[in-house]
Amino acid sequence: MSATAAIPLPALHASHAGIWLREANGETRGVSKGEAINRAADTPVLMINAPLVASRLGYPDLNGLDLLELYAFIHPARFCVPTAKGLAQALDMEPPTGDDAVAEFLQRAATRLLQGCEQPDWAEREGAWSILQSLAKLRWPWAQVVAPHIARPAQAEKWLFSRLPEWEDAPERPQPKQVAMEEEAVAASLARLTGEGAERREGQRAYAQSAAQVFAPRERDARPHVLLAQAGTGIGKTLGYLAPAAHWAQESGGTVWVSTYTKNLQRQLRSESRRAWPDRRRDGSRPVVVRKGRENYLCLLNLEDALQGGFTGRPAILAQLVARWAAFSADGDMIGGDLPGWLGTLFRKRGITALTDQRGECIYAGCPHYRKCFIERSARASAQADLVIANHALVMINAARGRHQGQAPTRVVFDEGHHVFDAADSTFAAALTGQEAIELRRWIIGPERNARGRRRGLAARLADVASYDDAGGEAVEAAIEAAAALPSDGWNQRLIEGAPSGPVEALLGQVRSFTYARDESGAQDAGYGIETEIAQLDGPLVEAAQEAGVTLAAIRKPLMALGARLEAVLEDAPDWLDGQGRARIEGARHSLGWRVDLVAAWESLLARMGGPADPDFVDWFAVDRNDTREFDIGIHRRWLDPMKPFAKVVLEQAHGVMLTSATLTDRAATGDGGRIEDWPHAIARSGAPHIDLAPKTANAASPFDYAGRAEVLIVNDLKRGDLPALAGAYARLIEAAGGGTLGLFTAIKRLRAVHSRIADRLARAGLPLYAQHVDPIDTGTLTDIFRDDRAASLLGTDALRDGVDVPGESLRCVVMEAVPWPRPTILHRARRLAAADEPGGAKNYDDRIIRARLAQAFGRLIRSRDDAGHFVVLSSAFPSRLLSAFPEGTPVIRLTLDAALARVAAGPPTGKAPAAASEMQIDEKDMPY
Ligand code: SF4
Repeated sequence: MSATAAIPLPALHASHAGIWLREANGETRGVSKGEAINRAADTPVLMINAPLVASRLGYPDLNGLDLLELYAFIHPARFCVPTAKGLAQALDMEPPTGDDAVAEFLQRAATRLLQGCEQPDWAEREGAWSILQSLAKLRWPWAQVVAPHIARPAQAEKWLFSRLPEWEDAPERPQPKQVAMEEEAVAASLARLTGEGAERREGQRAYAQSAAQVFAPRERDARPHVLLAQAGTGIGKTLGYLAPAAHWAQESGGTVWVSTYTKNLQRQLRSESRRAWPDRRRDGSRPVVVRKGRENYLCLLNLEDALQGGFTGRPAILAQLVARWAAFSADGDMIGGDLPGWLGTLFRKRGITALTDQRGECIYAGCPHYRKCFIERSARASAQADLVIANHALVMINAARGRHQGQAPTRVVFDEGHHVFDAADSTFAAALTGQEAIELRRWIIGPERNARGRRRGLAARLADVASYDDAGGEAVEAAIEAAAALPSDGWNQRLIEGAPSGPVEALLGQVRSFTYARDESGAQDAGYGIETEIAQLDGPLVEAAQEAGVTLAAIRKPLMALGARLEAVLEDAPDWLDGQGRARIEGARHSLGWRVDLVAAWESLLARMGGPADPDFVDWFAVDRNDTREFDIGIHRRWLDPMKPFAKVVLEQAHGVMLTSATLTDRAATGDGGRIEDWPHAIARSGAPHIDLAPKTANAASPFDYAGRAEVLIVNDLKRGDLPALAGAYARLIEAAGGGTLGLFTAIKRLRAVHSRIADRLARAGLPLYAQHVDPIDTGTLTDIFRDDRAASLLGTDALRDGVDVPGESLRCVVMEAVPWPRPTILHRARRLAAADEPGGAKNYDDRIIRARLAQAFGRLIRSRDDAGHFVVLSSAFPSRLLSAFPEGTPVIRLTLDAALARVAAGPPTGKAPAAASEMQIDEKDMPY
């Protein structure tokens, strides 16, 4: 095959603008949905992203030769945006010129990929031939096409599990030296990071000096240095805190944790940290480590099981492609690491999940792959690192679990600090639900009888203790017997039928009918989840709670007894306990401890039924539903103020903690058009007052020219609830902007309805529209696609409001469908009520939430000095008191949709000609309050 000759297979492309089929002989024509489906059923056709094509054709069972699968096989662990344009970039080819040229491009791209396998310098050759043989047995559609292009290796290839390198044990790091940092040293460290000749930024220098304060030696036990630093976008905050962090780590020999909320920032930190640290130290260890929760990493034992028959059909093909990837992956991170985010969606999501250690079933040193395990490698590397990049939840969990072992993070920078409250809220939550209870059952008993695979229960994981130690064996048996009373497979169907089995299912059945009887949120008709407060309970429900409580206590007691036995075995090691057994028992002891805590939390939740409420907590019943089914039922508990446990668990044992963000404080209006940072609320939300600490504060204003480069347009002539008008407004705004628009919604239903009305129209105009909750693509990949195509637009909900970091031309316009009011949930009501006595009262509580959301959404628009664009809110009811959410000086214009379209069509503000003063006046006349 020559470089330009196309593979002799038909190719199919479907977008919202139409469907094209290219025959093997080179003719391209538009076809109907029916013809496309028939052709794909008759002959294997080339396509890109088969699930997306299937959803465009409205035919979920579509099969074909997906070029993304081929790419994942030939170039595992290599980044590729999963579109024709993205594939062209990854393969260094000219992208297709339009939708009608995609099918022809697919033929050329397939040819290029296959030719790559014939090149002697193919970087990912190792292992390909062997895995292809397995894929052929699994009838992977590509296998026959690929086979002629991959030569059989002269020597047999090593199996993945023998090829992966082993991690090495290292001695524990000594505690860090106490270091006082001089101003000059911090300035010099910053200068080193920003580079010779870099523009000297005073804001960044002052910020770095403030950040250095958290690394000072602590003066008293449980009294960490706490700094809250508001850092306007563009001041260079990352290098601002990395400078003192790097200097401190070098001088003290200690570890700094930087915690983020989004994967984007994690990626950015990884790359910025290269200015301060080399990739490897002289001894080969890594000074910077990205650390995630264990559920993110590939479990090699699960993979081995999947490869050896645990998975069948399409998931078995996925397992082979994951094995290809594992051999080339930098760290085995399956979620947001170098495994393409789209690979799971080409198969089915659960396939990826089943390859990670979701349920804590790890058997540690009992695992044949223990010495090569990605999770163990990452945990060991982080213990030796100068900088650990993690996320908020993991830092909190590590602080809680490492508390008694001296392994809790002690110097922590929480970047994206405005999310610490939400992360603490979910980390310290408790929920006794059907899903949670069945997980516990499986962890103790093992899988249900008809389940495939190697998953095992406590008895198998602790087989040696059970057989050598009588008391241990009895405890395992008692726990298994008691856990049989927990919900089992089919529990939710039994509840719907009113035939629960066992006391916990019986309780959940009562919770379900009680919630349906009491919920008045209106979500029932809309097909969303429903909830009700725990109050005025009837006798049967209280009795059911008591019985379930007895059941849980009967599970907790043998688990505690087992924990005590494991401790005794470790302390007084018997003959049968070798090094590996010890490591396994230590692992089991920790995971047992978390389970005991979990069950105790459930018991205390049940003990409260029928009794007085604990003022520290908000409890409620919920039935989680989507359009088609109920997926969980249970009892939920949140802290009224989750920063209370945060202060105890994280702050109290730390030496220095910094919370930083561009939106850490609320900005209230001063009356003369200015802004004032609301520090009292930011301080209260940091948790510091719970341990009687007064944190230091710092503020660095953004250097960006918001007044000249951004405009807030509040469209005031759209009728609320008029869906066709809303959809029309979105379509016209996207057309006026020429794409490059991020559309934010507060309800998934409205997002879907708008998307279905406008996607075809926009696609025909060459403006592709993607949407979260519509396209079968994960959010990270959607953002990659959006970033990659100047003409594309993206619709989404909360996750996009502050997870999208798209500097440059690809994002020129943000459109919000409405003022983002908080959802009036039971939890929100309780916190709102608690805020009633604060200055500004409950109303100000809501306003702060909305302003924070507006500020985050606005923050998507201007990511760099050269960015410019419009921020449009489609709401006539936009109270003026919320406008202080936007940076000072940003023009805010209330206008009709037509006037807004004219401004958007004229292009982003250039900073040269500010809008006429009269237009910038805020028209307050008809504003509702
Ligand atoms: S050590 Fe645990 S997580 Fe690692 S591969 Fe083995 S079972 Fe999986």
